[in-house]
Amino acid sequence: MELDVLSIAAHPDDTELTCSGTVIKMVEAGYKAGLLDLTAGESGTRGDVNLRAKESARASKGMGIAYRGNLGFPDAALENRREYKLKIAQKIRELRPRTVILPYWEGRHPDHFTAGQIGYEACFLAGLARLPLEERPHRPFKIIYATFYVPSVRPTFVVDITSQFEKKLDAILSYSSQFSARRDLRNLFPSRADLRDRVGSLARHFGLMIGVRYGEPFVTREVAAVEDIVSMPVKSI
Ligand SMILES: [Zn+2]
Repeated sequence: MELDVLSIAAHPDDTELTCSGTVIKMVEAGYKAGLLDLTAGESGTRGDVNLRAKESARASKGMGIAYRGNLGFPDAALENRREYKLKIAQKIRELRPRTVILPYWEGRHPDHFTAGQIGYEACFLAGLARLPLEERPHRPFKIIYATFYVPSVRPTFVVDITSQFEKKLDAILSYSSQFSARRDLRNLFPSRADLRDRVGSLARHFGLMIGVRYGEPFVTREVAAVEDIVSMPVKSI
């Protein structure tokens, strides 16, 4: 398989929350996109692994992605271990993505930033010829970091997801075990209406940065090389 875009995330529903609008937009543009979850979310307060797998399949169908996998690493205990990095690197060789989306490297939940760190190292390892891995070496051309979970970070760029916003919400709401009809204050679970409000407010915040209704934010570590400052897609609003 040769993917154009692969999003690697800690838990099923992370990609949906942080960058599914962008993934859907790429699918609509004709690109082949895939999602790789590192854990099955078994430590979550609600739902069990089977239920979350079903929810994840439903979300994948709605997004129109070509591949979804789960490496089954331990939830709430993701660590920077060589064994994990090699398993991710193996998947990268199999899927051969051109662009990889990773979770931002800082944040509240340790699984999220650890996924960003080991995902980055796995992209590097996948390109080394002399490793105990199968398939030909492959190194993604581009790595970008989704920062939706860390709104205090100023994005390098924002993708306009106005036309994909409803599909993004549908993908998130596929995980119905994670949301209640009414607010569950004790466990801090948002209600559906609450969720729409929260995701909508954040997407609106980032959208305003580029003068559109809804946006998803990303950071790049690399500096962009620009040939033509007239045609580059940056505008003042
Ligand atoms: Zn998560």
